Amino acid sequence: MALVGIDLGGTQLRVAIADDRGRLRTVVRRPTEAARGRQHVIGRIVAAVADALAEDGTPASRVRALGIGLPGPVDPSAGLVISPANLPGFRNVPLNRILTRGTGIRSYLHHDAHLAALGEHRRGAGRGASELIYVTVSTGIGAGLLIGGELYAGAHGSAGEIGHIVVQKDGPLCTCGNRGCVEVLASGTGIARAARELGAKTPESALHRLDSPSAEDVVRAARAGDQLAISILETAGAYLGIAMGTLVNLFNPQLIVLGGSVLKAGAPLLTPMRRSMLASSWKAARRGLRIVRPALGDDVGLIGAVEFARLRAGHARPA
Ligand SMILES: [Zn+2]
Repeated sequence: MALVGIDLGGTQLRVAIADDRGRLRTVVRRPTEAARGRQHVIGRIVAAVADALAEDGTPASRVRALGIGLPGPVDPSAGLVISPANLPGFRNVPLNRILTRGTGIRSYLHHDAHLAALGEHRRGAGRGASELIYVTVSTGIGAGLLIGGELYAGAHGSAGEIGHIVVQKDGPLCTCGNRGCVEVLASGTGIARAARELGAKTPESALHRLDSPSAEDVVRAARAGDQLAISILETAGAYLGIAMGTLVNLFNPQLIVLGGSVLKAGAPLLTPMRRSMLASSWKAARRGLRIVRPALGDDVGLIGAVEFARLRAGHARPA
């Protein structure tokens, strides 16, 4: 028997066929073409599953379950995609039902950050930890929670939306409608925004000469010793640390797996982050806490989706 895992992002769609123990056998990667709308994307998913199964030489009847991770908000218990910002047209879409019908395989969706947490827990840096938080800092900021070794999604699937912890009163406006969320201050998007605003006012900075500096530009300039770039990363790190401290106080985790492209910034971001996490968490709540880098790399979403399929297939037996 086999399992199917899918990682659906705004830009890339990945489908994996795995064996019964969750080891990836065949992987198919394609552009999502999200801008062409919901029907088009669903058609692409179903076709990619069929192609991956054909390439793997496995008929759909030999697959126990399909797991799919996608950006939130989603409601895993209702099998609903609510309204992910980077998948236009997906609003209250019963994707479990649609994919089960389209592929002939029982399908289960979940938030991608949560499935990344599950993947790291089952097969990566989080093995053996029962209280684990996976935090990702890239274009946005999100987290997946495992409590008592089980995924925790909240009442309607929105647990772990740590990007919207408010860390600056009356701060910049966030996509969620509130102000001063950590995502608007410390994500890749937030770092780019700070570079644009502060770079325009600071002629001595290398960022001043760039039209629309990206987070990568800021990291590069910081490495070259640019004072403004360094201070932008330090500020982002300090805000990120406040959100992390809040997580620590709430969940008393054993392990935080900290991933995402923004962490490539290194010490200028991580040192203030640690300092501010210590300053905003209680000592008792962080006793024995370890913070580690992810072990699964780019395939974390796929591995998590396969592990989720495996979990659900186990629960679904013997129906
Ligand atoms: Zn927000």
